[in-house]
This record gives sequence, structure tokens and C-alpha cells, in this order.
Amino acid sequence: MPEQHLQYIDGARRAGSGAPLSILAPATGAIVATGRGAHADDVETAVGAARSAFPAWAALTPGTRSDLMHEWARILRERAPELAAIESVNAGKPIRLATEFDVPGTIDNTAFFAGAARHLEGKAAGEYSGEHTSSIRREPLGVIGSISPWNYPLQMAGWKILPAIAAGNTVVLKPSELTPLTSLLFAEAATAAGIPAGVINVLTGAGLDAGQPLVEHPAVAMVSFTGSTAVGRRVAASAAGAAKRVHLELGGKAPFVVFDDADLEAAARGAVAGALINAGQDCTAATRAYVQRPLFEEFVGRVAHLMDQVRIGPVEDPDTDMGSLISRAHRDKVHGMVERARTDGAKVVHGGRIPEHTPPAGAYYEPTLITGAVQDSEIVQQEIFGPVLVVLPFDTDDEAIALANDTPYGLAASAWSRDVFRTQRASREIQAGCVWINDHIPIVSEMPHGGLKSSGFGKDMSAYAFEEYTNIKHVMSDITGAAHKPWHDVIFRAR
Ligand code: NDP
Repeated sequence: MPEQHLQYIDGARRAGSGAPLSILAPATGAIVATGRGAHADDVETAVGAARSAFPAWAALTPGTRSDLMHEWARILRERAPELAAIESVNAGKPIRLATEFDVPGTIDNTAFFAGAARHLEGKAAGEYSGEHTSSIRREPLGVIGSISPWNYPLQMAGWKILPAIAAGNTVVLKPSELTPLTSLLFAEAATAAGIPAGVINVLTGAGLDAGQPLVEHPAVAMVSFTGSTAVGRRVAASAAGAAKRVHLELGGKAPFVVFDDADLEAAARGAVAGALINAGQDCTAATRAYVQRPLFEEFVGRVAHLMDQVRIGPVEDPDTDMGSLISRAHRDKVHGMVERARTDGAKVVHGGRIPEHTPPAGAYYEPTLITGAVQDSEIVQQEIFGPVLVVLPFDTDDEAIALANDTPYGLAASAWSRDVFRTQRASREIQAGCVWINDHIPIVSEMPHGGLKSSGFGKDMSAYAFEEYTNIKHVMSDITGAAHKPWHDVIFRAR
């Protein structure tokens, strides 16, 4: 297989100067691309390109940036089938998911930020002292160092790059070294749309070889990180050394609370879709269902039945519902958690195995349903990031809310009930960046995504993302023209 250039710097593909890299199709174990990874030298070149591109990009009118981004969205629409096919193979996800969720989601996000680029706002100007006019300038920060994970490679590239450049910053993105292919195509499409070279750069490489030097680079004004809580903490610690701004989108452990007046069929279907989307490798996936005791047995039975209908198969087959996990190492981690839960006395009601008739070099895992786990066990407390749903019973509403809040995470949650007072209480009291009512998973470009507690801070998507990528500058202009200003008297009374 001929080597590919896996770096995108200053508007062109380049070879990396780091170690050889093979990009795999996790569903089959086949190598789909080879090349060289990025190293600190490539970080230097990419940050240099982003730095050089910054003044001119920041100086464009919002309208011009917007036009270029709209053209980018148009080109992405044209290239959607190619993007979906590559995303599906490289991330091991079913082609249906890539075609109907990942790619259109990214195109919509691109179109949203193309429009939002013209709506950067500050507080109204005013004469707050009586002697000055105060106004707000919302300014880009400079070069943003972004780091993204492997679960939704294209969408994550969009979430990191789009608000940053719409606000006038330039970006160096380091995607996961497992899944860089669509991030590279995304950047190439931006260049084809006329977005100047250097505004978007993509470095394919390992966290320690490319991610860390990017975080630590003195010319990187801000670090935007999406990934695990453990690595996020390390990234934040490195950035803190240089007092850099940080945006962290970290892990999740979403509760799924089913009250006894819920529509059971809707909740069961919602739980299966919410737990199995992207083979459960979704930071907002439903992972802990708390079901009020009168519905418990029926809910578990219905979910097990629905999980049994889920078709596992080749990712290119449009009938496949669930694809592979990202790697066999990750599948072993998921399976290890399920086995430890079993050893600790939990019951695996469905799944918990490598499915039959899947490629031995692939990383498939069965949809898995667990009951009988205790609240403080690993399987309930820690992120699994696989197709595993744990169901626990509860008796009172107070107990449900307390259990929902009882993990280190706070990214997403859902509450299922026909009683508006119950759902309102859940939306108020569950500590999460997003609470769905009678649904779980849908996202829209107009609304923010981000967590609290160990799930991080800051927002992706929506106009709220601009808060991360802009600096608020106060400009205070004297309107008196007087040499002797009354406030000088506080300091010196000389006449
Ligand atoms: P990781 O934290 O392992 O990696 C995330 C990124 O960080 C990768 O690009 C990785 O590079 C890089 N990295 C690793 N070490 C360092 C370092 N020392 N300095 C800088 N960068 C580094 O996460 P995963 O890729 O395994 O993704 C899964 C995680 O992402 C889950 O915890 C999930 O919840 C979270 N996530 C959160 C989302 C949110 O919005 N809150 C959305 C999606 C996922 P490489 O892997 O190439 O070595």
C-alpha cells in the first residue's frame, strides 16, 4: 500500500516526521492507510502556519468568513458519500450511521457556524461612568490547539474547528491517531472552498508525540480538548503551567431515569437506541437506567428483546445496526468491565460476549444488558464506552435523582415520565450539561453541548461556543476632552 501524507499543514498534505503509522479498519483489522505520524517538528511547522494565517483571517469581515464557510458546507454536501464511506470504515461504524448522522450533522454544523459568524455579539455600549463611552470588542484569541477523540472523528473535528475559525481564530487540530482520515478530508474541503492556507491544520499523530507538544507550544493561545477525563486532566495541568485557556469536553456516564408513569415502550426503545448508538462509544450514551420498581421487570424484558433484534454485521451493509468497537484493545477493556461486574454478582441478562460470525481481527461486541449491579460498583460508576446498559431499580423520586447524580460525571441525562412536574424536577435537579425529557441522544447545531463535574467545562456547538473562542475586551473612551478629570482628585489634588 503506497504511503499517504497524513499531515495537513498550510493548505497542503505533507508527510510527518514522526514514527510510521498504520490506520486500520477496526471491523476487519485491515490496514486502510499508512504514513508517518506527526512529531514535535511538525507541531512547530503547523503552529507557525496557523500563526502566519491568523492576522489576515481575523481581519476579514464576518460576512467574508461566512461566505467561505457556506461554500465549505456546499463542498461537504457534494463529498458526503465519500466522507461517509471513509468514516464508516475507519471508525468501524455502520454506513447508515455515518450517512444519516455523522456526515449530515457535520454539514449542518458547518452551515450553522457559517451563519453564526455574522452574529458575534457584545453588551450594548453605554456611558456607565458618565464621562466615558464603554464598549465591548469580542476578539479571536489566535492559534487554537485542538485535540479530538476517535468516536465521531468528523463530527469532533467540526465541533473543534468551526466555532474557532468562525470567530476569526486559526486552528491546529490533532485528531486521534486511530481515525484521522475524515479530519484530513474536512480540512481539504475548507481549502477547496477558498479558506486560506494555514487557517486549518491537521496533525495526525500520537498524544505524546503530537498532542502534548501542541498543548505546550507557547504560540498556542488556547487548548480545546475532547477525550477521556484522565487525559483531559493531564492536558489541563500542562496548559495551567502556561496559564492558557482550556476547554474540556470529557467523559460521561449518562443516567436514564424511568418513572412509573412513563410510556414503557418508548422508554425501552429509547434505552436501546441511546445505549447502542455508535456501539455505545458516545459520551452521552445511556449507560445507567434507573427504573421505578413497578416497571422494572417489564422494562428489562423489553430491552433484552429489542437488543436481540439488533443486527451486527459488516459496516458497509446498509442493514447493519451496530458495527465494531474502535479496537480489540478497547473491546477487551469493555469485556473486562462486564466480566468484573459478573464476578461481583451482577447478572448479564443479554450479550456480554464477542458475537459469532464476526471477523476474528475485528472488534465486535454484543449488545449487553446487566442487572443486579450495585450503585458503587465499577460498572455503574465508570465510563464503559461500549454497548453496555446497566439497569437498576428505585422506589422514590428522591432516590432516583440522588442515584442519577451519584457518579463523578455530569454530561447528559434523560428522564421518562408523563408527569410534567416530575420531568421538570428532573431537568432542574439532575446535574448534567443536557437533560432530555422522554428522549435520549438527539443534538442540534443551535444548542450547546458540554458538561460539568468530571465531564469538563465549556460548550461545543451553538453560539455559546463563541464564549470559549473569543476574548471580551472592554474599550473605555473618554468623552469629556478634559485634561483635569474629577477622578484625578482622588490620587492628587494639585491644581
Ligand atoms: P483519549 O483521552 O484517550 O484521547 C483523546 C485525544 O487526546 C486523542 O487525540 C489522543 O491521542 C490525545 N492525547 C492522549 N494523550 C495526550 C497528551 N498527553 N497530550 C495531548 N493529547 C493527548 O480519549 P479517546 O480517544 O479514547 O476517546 C474517548 C473519550 O472521549 C471518552 O472518555 C469519551 O467520553 C470522550 N468524549 C467526550 C465527548 C464530549 O463531548 N464530552 C465527546 C466524545 C468523546 P491518541 O489517541 O492519538 O494518542
